[in-house]
Amino acid sequence: MKQIIMCYLGEMALKGLNKSTFEAQLMKTIRNRLKNLGQFKIYKAQSTFYIEAEDEYSDIDAAFEKVKKIFGIAAVSKAVVTEKNFDKIAEMAPIYLEDALKNARTFKVTAKRSDKSFPMGSLEISREVGAAILRKFHHLKVDVHNPQVTVMVEIRDFGAYIHEAKQPGAGGMPVSTSGKGALMLSGGIDSPVAAWMMAKRGMLIEAVHFHSYPYTSPRAQEKVEDLAKIVASYRGRFKMHCVNLLPIQEQIVQNCPEEETTILVRRFMMRIAERIARDNGCMMLITGENLGQVASQTMQAMAVTGAVVDVPIFMPLVGMDKEEIVTIARKIGTMQTAILPYEDCCTVFTPKHPKTKPSLNQL
Ligand code: ATP
Ligand code: MG
Repeated sequence: MKQIIMCYLGEMALKGLNKSTFEAQLMKTIRNRLKNLGQFKIYKAQSTFYIEAEDEYSDIDAAFEKVKKIFGIAAVSKAVVTEKNFDKIAEMAPIYLEDALKNARTFKVTAKRSDKSFPMGSLEISREVGAAILRKFHHLKVDVHNPQVTVMVEIRDFGAYIHEAKQPGAGGMPVSTSGKGALMLSGGIDSPVAAWMMAKRGMLIEAVHFHSYPYTSPRAQEKVEDLAKIVASYRGRFKMHCVNLLPIQEQIVQNCPEEETTILVRRFMMRIAERIARDNGCMMLITGENLGQVASQTMQAMAVTGAVVDVPIFMPLVGMDKEEIVTIARKIGTMQTAILPYEDCCTVFTPKHPKTKPSLNQL
């Protein structure tokens, strides 16, 4: 039985002149991510990328899990390929999906015929494949509205593909199709989600992390590295710059009004991140700021923090609720690590009553 992974393109399929650049980038990314799992033949036809294992040592199941994380792919399915011959299709469908069908009570068949030379129409294929399945599994009932298993049959140029309902892919645009930004990565819940969201739109990222060693521990830094690795499982490898902010924090604490320390420290973070961004070809900064979440995220505070830099700041989470952010953090797998209780450089010298409406003149 020959299995094949089908990767369906989302909004990328709608691109005009740039489409081939996007597709070439996606092809490169897929090759790269599957590199360690064996030998695969990867090709594109009819707005779909096909992935086949070239030998029995190549792990198609692991490849399937990997491609679900690749941006630019809207949906995926793992299919079996047969000849474009109705008898073969009707024979194969109940065999390939036996496990799923055995354990379900209801199913439906959806056929799609993009090869119009195939002699049967989609409705007829659906009906007849459904009948073949019912002959084999007497306990099943057809339910066209809410089936437990959807059997899909796609008649395409190179063969007939049988699979269960498509699974969602990572969506977005292929990595590296939108320029590079410097991500300010803390050990919290928000910034890894912000990274994932911008990477999803095709941005390359390079991370900047501030610590206050020895007030913050090496374990706190490892936690940030772990978060970066999870982001890298979607985005691919990236560089992280680690900066010790302690000398600046100490000067601020000694010389400035207590209620302004947080905001002043944040302004230094922005300045340093901007310098790192410029030196490394990043066009903007990315932060996980979220309006109203903490004292340093009032509109006034965000305005005076942003005012120290001359590059745009992308804040993909600014208008979201915490619950929405947490849902994404769980989905992408950063939540568990983010909530580990290690100190952060911002918490080292937190004032009792931080100013929520700082003015630029005063600062
Ligand atoms: P997060 O959950 O991302 O830590 P937060 O809700 O704790 O965010 P702040 O501590 O005000 O909010 O940080 C706002 C943003 O500033 C963060 O999302 C991140 O982009 C950046 N930032 C905060 N601390 C650091 C740090 N130690 N290193 C790098 N960037 C940081
Ligand atoms: Mg934080």
